[in-house]
Amino acid sequence: MTKRIDGKAAALDVRQQVAKGVEAFRKQTGRAPGLAVVLVGDDPASTVYVGSKGKATLEAGMESFTHRLPADTTQDELLSLVERLNDDSKVDGILVQLPLPDQIDADAVLDAIDPAKDVDGFHILNAGKLAVGQQALVPCTPYGCLHLLKHEHDDLSGKHALVIGRSNIVGKPMAQLLLGENATVTIAHSRTRDLQALAREADIVVAAVGRAEMVKGDWIKPGATVIDVGINRLPPEEGKSKGKLVGDVAYDEAAENAGAITPVPGGVGPMTIAMLLRNTLVAAHQREELEAPAI
Ligand code: NDP
Repeated sequence: MTKRIDGKAAALDVRQQVAKGVEAFRKQTGRAPGLAVVLVGDDPASTVYVGSKGKATLEAGMESFTHRLPADTTQDELLSLVERLNDDSKVDGILVQLPLPDQIDADAVLDAIDPAKDVDGFHILNAGKLAVGQQALVPCTPYGCLHLLKHEHDDLSGKHALVIGRSNIVGKPMAQLLLGENATVTIAHSRTRDLQALAREADIVVAAVGRAEMVKGDWIKPGATVIDVGINRLPPEEGKSKGKLVGDVAYDEAAENAGAITPVPGGVGPMTIAMLLRNTLVAAHQREELEAPAI
């Protein structure tokens, strides 16, 4: 029978481990780890994400610093805030919520963040370290996916993993992480030919595309593990103000073939914030030259 992978429960477990780590860190150093989140503008989805991140940070016993800047903030103003946060000893992690308004070059801002405080793992130094197999702060969503996969499989070595999507935020780091676990990794993207045939060969499918229910049930090899990163909102049904949230995988069909599969919502989503807290705890330990708990 197909197993529905419970991302909420896995995320709760990570958050409880982080909270214990925070307590121990506080005893050792006399301070709590601190996470600064920067929001530019008032994009509704970003406002919700930033609110959830602040709340989760406090629940883990950490200090939360939220900076809300107006939509017309200039690049220089944002860079000078990043500089101040880089220099602030109470801040262990800095997250600049994406997307940023058009007048700001997001790459320049991400690269201005001190790599030691780059808890999103988007800085070029952390991306490079991950690519060459060195210890790095790793992007939260793919790290959360890896955590779920390791829960399902004692050993990922030799498994054929198909990652659909090659963004710097999800697809590429996901592929690097799987490679680091000795999986045989195929990366697919919009120019890939015969994606279905590739998917049918895969023991693991990670879908990070942003296209509602694109991966069909008959693409999935019997018994494969399916991790659905996608978050897509369908058009609202008649009489409803909001459409249903679905992933990149047609869940009901895929569940008929998969050995284990993440739902949307309640799969990968909750892991992202849990791993952000984990990264902040790790960054705090590294800044104090202490050994971080293995989470
Ligand atoms: P991007 O738009 O940056 O990347 C999408 C990738 O999918 C690209 O590499 C693109 O290929 C590829 N793609 C597009 N169409 C096809 C197709 N028909 N066949 C194969 N590949 C295709 O998206 P993100 O990586 O940022 O996000 C992916 C999804 O994950 C989104 O739904 C997003 O909302 C969700 N997400 C969820 C998170 C969570 O916390 N659960 C966190 C981050 C993202 P190409 O490069 O050739 O254009």
